[in-house]
Amino acid sequence: MPDVAVVGSGPNGLAAAVTMARAGLAVHVYEAAGSAGGGLRTAELIEPGHFHDVCSAVHPMALASPFFKAFELSRRVRLEVPELSHGAPLDGGRAALGYRSLERTVAGLERDGGAYRRLMGPLLDRLDGITDVALNQLLRVPRDPLGAAVFGLRTLEQGSALWGLRFRGDLAPALLSGVAAHAVAPLPTLPAAAAGLLLGALGHAGGWPIPVGGSAAIAGAMVADIEAHGGVVETGVRIDSLAQLPPAKATLLDVAPPGLLRIAGDRLPSRYRRALGQFRFGNAACKVDFILDGPVPWAAPELADAGTVHAGGTRAETAAAERLVAAGRHPAKPYVLASQPSRFDPGRAPGGRQVLWTYCHVPAGSTVDMGDAVTAQLERFAPGFRDLVVGRRVTTAAELAHYNENYVGGDFSAGVMDLRGLIRRPVLGPVPWRTPLPGVYLCSSSTPPGPGVTGMSGFHAAKHALKDIFGLSLPALAP
Ligand SMILES: Cc1cc2nc3c(=O)[nH]c(=O)nc-3n(C[C@H](O)[C@H](O)[C@H](O)COP(=O)(O)OP(=O)(O)OC[C@H]3O[C@@H](n4cnc5c(N)ncnc54)[C@H](O)[C@@H]3O)c2cc1C
Repeated sequence: MPDVAVVGSGPNGLAAAVTMARAGLAVHVYEAAGSAGGGLRTAELIEPGHFHDVCSAVHPMALASPFFKAFELSRRVRLEVPELSHGAPLDGGRAALGYRSLERTVAGLERDGGAYRRLMGPLLDRLDGITDVALNQLLRVPRDPLGAAVFGLRTLEQGSALWGLRFRGDLAPALLSGVAAHAVAPLPTLPAAAAGLLLGALGHAGGWPIPVGGSAAIAGAMVADIEAHGGVVETGVRIDSLAQLPPAKATLLDVAPPGLLRIAGDRLPSRYRRALGQFRFGNAACKVDFILDGPVPWAAPELADAGTVHAGGTRAETAAAERLVAAGRHPAKPYVLASQPSRFDPGRAPGGRQVLWTYCHVPAGSTVDMGDAVTAQLERFAPGFRDLVVGRRVTTAAELAHYNENYVGGDFSAGVMDLRGLIRRPVLGPVPWRTPLPGVYLCSSSTPPGPGVTGMSGFHAAKHALKDIFGLSLPALAP
């Protein structure tokens, strides 16, 4: 009989399970899919011997996360950290380049270098305070009020019509928008600006790491830790009702609100059920994986060394593409997010071949295959790209939703990334991880702090469950 049942083995479910197992409790994880990991899976999607990250690929948020810091992820998984965190190609063989070194970045931004330094420098000076704001609940007193203010003011600027005021050229705006567009939200908006500034600052700090062996290596390290502390991770078991679970003292659910409604709906009070029913999901991704017969022939050759490339063109083009998605349309020239893992982890593909991980944004529930549009956008910035493609696999938003039921309509943020969606996640309250059912907690990215491989939703939920039910405080998580 476990003390704790965890449903779902994404990074948040596993973070919750690690924390509870480390506290000395008997933990059992139930995962619907055939393998653990949720958004942390790596697979031979196209040809044997070529390893693609199915969902997440690049992990700046994991490096910054208090959970993964305590877990000492970088001692358990080899993380390759490119010097060039990210880049954004423009036509004519130019590119905006976001190096780990702020000064090197500034030097490449032509006449906007100084303006970029004045925007990002103060964020780097107070990065701990800013990650504290971003990785907790938004509505709480920040530990570093000055850091929160510095972040807030810059978010107001980059998330509004003022976003171009400090710049004269096109490189710095393209660099910033390439990162802000990760938020799957129209530009400029406050949540996109906040995500962009945080990720941009992390790119100049710890960098944007790529795990050797793929994202699955992170899940593997977490599962190994759970098992080393007596826990069990069982795959191929879909939970449809609390009645299916043994009578554990605590149940932590790494599921989205529709999953919680299905699993516990009849036992939840009607007001909470209504709130869950009103939970909104955002737009989605169409994933396009490639096997290439060599490195991407970027017209801007520096991009060969970038871990991540944002191929959306100028700030205006990226904003236009994201506006179309927000209006329910498919852009002909999408903003393409690309990662080049085999450049840093050669074991991902044999014989000089490369795997290329890309996706673009599409309206929720889309069944449209964006493979040709993504290929055309890459060909635009890397002439000859098309000739190198030896394999391609498209996963539409609808297929993504089928792959993981937390990604409703293909929304891998498991909840819309607008201001309301960030504050009411899934409900407004001091402890949104607690459900009205004693002992039952929600721990997915539909709770604060939201999406990304941080483990923080699971960690927060586990911290409350430990205190509420077992009277325990957080255990040490180091190896
Ligand atoms: C294409 C794509 C690219 C991404 N890129 C990045 C990136 O580069 N970096 C980054 O930080 N983040 C990235 N993300 C986002 C990241 O993967 C998610 O934010 C993160 O995985 C969410 O973690 P989670 O634990 O909340 O849920 P998930 O990782 O979604 O895991 C939930 C798990 O619960 C299981 N489950 C759900 N319901 C049940 C049930 N009833 N019974 C049993 N099991 C159940 C699911 O099968 C799944 O395994 C990406 C996501 C996608 C889809």
